[in-house]
Amino acid sequence: MSQPLSPLPPGSTIGILGGGQLGRMLSLAASRLGLRTHIYCPDPASPAFEVTPHKTVAAYDDETALAAFAEAVDVVTYEFENVPAATAEFLAARKPLRPGANALAISQDRLAEKQFLSSKNIPVAPWRAVESLADLEAAIADLGLPAVLKTTRLGYDGKGQRVIRAADEAAAAFAALQPHPLVLEAFMPFEKEISVVIARNGAGEVRAYDVAENVHRDHILFTSTVPADIAPGVARQAAMLAKVIVVALDYVGVLGVEFFVIPGERPTLVVNEIAPRVHNSGHWTEAVCLTDQFEQHMRAVALWPLGDPARLADVVMENLIGDEVLALPARLDGDSQPHLYGKAEPRPGRKMGHINRIRR
Ligand code: AMP
Repeated sequence: MSQPLSPLPPGSTIGILGGGQLGRMLSLAASRLGLRTHIYCPDPASPAFEVTPHKTVAAYDDETALAAFAEAVDVVTYEFENVPAATAEFLAARKPLRPGANALAISQDRLAEKQFLSSKNIPVAPWRAVESLADLEAAIADLGLPAVLKTTRLGYDGKGQRVIRAADEAAAAFAALQPHPLVLEAFMPFEKEISVVIARNGAGEVRAYDVAENVHRDHILFTSTVPADIAPGVARQAAMLAKVIVVALDYVGVLGVEFFVIPGERPTLVVNEIAPRVHNSGHWTEAVCLTDQFEQHMRAVALWPLGDPARLADVVMENLIGDEVLALPARLDGDSQPHLYGKAEPRPGRKMGHINRIRR
């Protein structure tokens, strides 16, 4: 659907698919802008429901509920990339969907993502599509070992992937990862992981936040530190590649791009993943940017001018995973800004909140 270019007036309703912490933080940002949110999520215990004026608890394939939701909102956005394609199409036929269905389709399928990035000359790890064990053996012969075998869909926080270090591990990895097809990636000897959170609005204006340096623990983001300890040329290159991606997608909203930094005489960048939404590695923007990523996304999808992403201080964001949230008070000082997601049960591996710490 072609996008009308007039900004939504204050008081408009932004429909958000997904009720996790990202939806919650988007809803909080929207309310400061005088925008209302309507959150659609099948889970009645969704953290975003606590803070949104309107909600729908229904399955993503419930067309009656989806039609009523579309009727009640002015624009639809999403806070996770695994919204079923049929849901996105159903809604996009009724109301503007920002970011568009193309961004969803590409980012929810690793093969489509790699094909898209490669077609734009954006560096990715060497990869092969794997439909059979014979494909996997041929791919290993091409790419060498170690290599990483991944599902093409529904992978996150390291789920749905196996590192293959020896040829005799291939069959077990192939059988363990479902559904097929899979993708085999060459193992990247990266020095660090960085990310760029970038926004584009309906007028084609693009603004990127400073590069974050990310450390994972048990495959889950542990800290994001800004500025990243990288050469200025590497930071410029990361921002430039992120811009190529949002322009190529005719993207409207905030997008996260994760990179590997490959060491060398001149370090190079490889894109690991793109996420068509606000991103965990952008939570630091809340504490130190005039416009944080949540407000920026709302401004973009409402077709408002983007805000200034300039960073006013050095910062580190620490995720609070599982039980870590219980020790929150002891971890606070005058330089820290906590944000809890209101989740009742601190299960292992569950993101419960984060702390942004100013670094002086
Ligand atoms: P992903 O689910 O693709 O974001 O991967 C999760 C984590 O696995 C990344 O943050 C890396 O630490 C590691 N990883 C993924 N792909 C590769 C690769 N091709 N080479 C080396 N490490 C990888």
